[in-house]
Order: sequence, then C-alpha cells, then structure tokens
Amino acid sequence: MTGFARHYLDWNATAPLRPEARSAMLAAFDLVGNPSSVHAEGRRARRIVEDAREKVAHLVGAKPAEVIFTSGATEANNWVCGRSWENIVTTRLEHPSVVAPVLASEARTVELPVGQSGIVDVARLEAWLAANSERLAKAPGRSLLVLQAANNETGVIQPLKEAADLAAAHGLVVMTDAVQAAGRLPLEFGRSSLTYMTISSHKLGGLKGVGALIARVDAPLPPLLIGGGQERGRRAGTENVASIAGFGAAAAAAAGEVAYFSALAGLRDRLEIAAKRATPEAIVIGAGSPRLANTSCLSLPGRAAETLVAALDLSGIAVSAGSACSSGKVGPSPVLAAMGLPADVARGAVRISIGPSTMPEDIDAFVTAWTRISRPAAAAA
Ligand code: PMP
Repeated sequence: MTGFARHYLDWNATAPLRPEARSAMLAAFDLVGNPSSVHAEGRRARRIVEDAREKVAHLVGAKPAEVIFTSGATEANNWVCGRSWENIVTTRLEHPSVVAPVLASEARTVELPVGQSGIVDVARLEAWLAANSERLAKAPGRSLLVLQAANNETGVIQPLKEAADLAAAHGLVVMTDAVQAAGRLPLEFGRSSLTYMTISSHKLGGLKGVGALIARVDAPLPPLLIGGGQERGRRAGTENVASIAGFGAAAAAAAGEVAYFSALAGLRDRLEIAAKRATPEAIVIGAGSPRLANTSCLSLPGRAAETLVAALDLSGIAVSAGSACSSGKVGPSPVLAAMGLPADVARGAVRISIGPSTMPEDIDAFVTAWTRISRPAAAAA
C-alpha cells in the first residue's frame, strides 16, 4: 500500500492497537514466569494478570473476581448460551456467536420482535414474562434473556436496563453482549440486574484473541475447561499473560475516553449529511434511534453492498457490508432482515465505523469516494 493513503473506517470489526496495549504486551513478552508458580517470576506474571483484571473490571463496573479471561467474546458468548437452559429469550439482532449456540441448544427459543428502529420490543418481553410468570417462578435461574447492549452493524443501543430489570424480576438470568458498548457507553455491571456480560479486547484497542466473560461470582456456571484450576476453576489453562496485559492497558485507556466518545457523533453526522447530499436516496438505518456515536449504517437501495465495499476499498477506504464475520457470505444481513427493512435497503447497506483517532480528512475521503462510486454511470461500469 505504499504511496496510497488508506482510511480505516471499520472500527466495529476491529480497532487499531493502542500504543499503551503494545507497550504492556512487549513488557510481558520477556517475562518467564507462569502465573501459577509461587516463585518471584511466577508472582510477577500473576501480578500482570491481576492488574489487567482490575482494569477490565473497572471498565465495566464489575469486581475483579467477576472477570474471567477468555479467548474472546465468541468463546464467552458460546459458553453462556451453550449451557442447558429451559428457555432462551432473545432477538435476531444478536451477533452470530450468540445466535448459533442458541439455535444449537435444546432450549425453547423465544424471539422478541424488533421494529425498523432496531430496538427490541420491550412490551412483548413484558407480555411473555407475564404470560409465563407461574412457570418461570417454579424454575428460577433456568431461563436466559440475551440482549446485546449495542448492535455491531447499526450501532443501535438497546433498552438493556429496562429489559434486564424486567427479566430478572421474573427469575430469568440475563446476559448482555457488550462488545460494541464497552469503552463507548458507561457500563455498570455491579449495579445492574445482569448475571453475565461479554467483552472483547480487540474492539478496545487490545489484541485479537482475548476477551472476558464477566460473571457474578455465585452464578452457576459449569467450567468451560477443566484441568489446572485457573480463572477460579472456571476456565483452566495457563493464562495468555501478554494478551491479557494488553487487554488491561486497552481497557484502562478506553475507560478514560468513555466520557468523550459521544463527541464522535460530530464526525459521524458530518459523514451522513455529506453522503445524503451526494446521494439523496441514501438511507441511514436506525437514524431515529439511540445509536453509538461512531457507527453509521448507510444504504443505497438497489445497489449491492459488496460492490460498494469493493469500490470503496479500491479508493483506499475500509468499511464493511454487514458484520465482518458474515460479510464473506453473500446475502442480506440477518440483523437488517430482523428489522424488517425492505430487501433492497438491506442489500445496499454499508457499515462505516470510526474511532478516537479518526480525522475529518478520513471522513472527507469517504465522502469523495462515495460521491464518485455512487453515480449511476459508475454503477453501470
Ligand atoms: N459480539 C459482537 C457484538 C461483536 O461485534 C463481535 C466481534 N465481531 C463478537 C461478539 C465476537 O468477538 P470476538 O472477535 O472477540 O470473538
């Protein structure tokens, strides 16, 4: 890519590595100790892991003992959703790492509807809870509500507190996938009705392949891996000390930025206004809903998102069609389908996601490229 400026606008897929995370990892690479060893080398490695645990806990308002390090949010989501539940109440907005284990499980699945706003219908949750309250009261803790904090494709923020409080009052266990919300919205696990929360390091500027399940200490949770007894016996295996160190450093840096994250809406809005000026037929999906300040899901009805993404890529702009995990597959995004959007709107949707180091020039470069590639002549070419 020499001599060719790239503009990375795909932060919801993964964020650039933070310098703090890089230094923490480099320092950890040279440590020889195993965190389970009692000698000085082992104790140093243990200190690094526990220091990171405190930082991750602080980011989400949890206690350090509630943080279980995993290989990422996919593992954490699978761990909770794959347990044997009687009922799982959820939506089609969830990430595939939630949807797949839910569908594979033997639980009775209750799908809550979602409107074009991208927001779960809480009244339907309330109605389901009321209709099943007797049955739920007989088996508290046997049913699960899974509701993401914010959507990776549209950025739409769910009424998590309201839904979690309602569900918990009826004896449901509540899990949230907070991967896209961590570092972007204030999170208070300790003061919430949540039992589980999942987060991922690489969306915060840490390394890929490390994340955490935040779980109440008394939450019944069969161990994922048994053997060495690490992570309070819940996930055995020698800790990935360097990745965890980077995760901790990224979490601390992100925690310091939560208050400023909403300022990114200025750049996001500038992009949306300019794109709509260039292509008045463009639709901003979820525009009327509370959204993450960094995310824009922009559709050109009648166009294929894959083609737009490829053309933008050739112009130096990195964005996605649908979520990165499913964008290799052709077909409408299940999230946009769940919102009941017309097929041509869903097919033409491109996700632009920015972060704290995004510059106005990056937005301008996007708008220039968008204006050029969205012309009908370019479409025919
Ligand atoms: N949930 C959401 C909402 C995500 O955006 C992602 C990452 N695309 C995941 C879960 C999976 O996280 P990880 O990459 O750490 O497995």
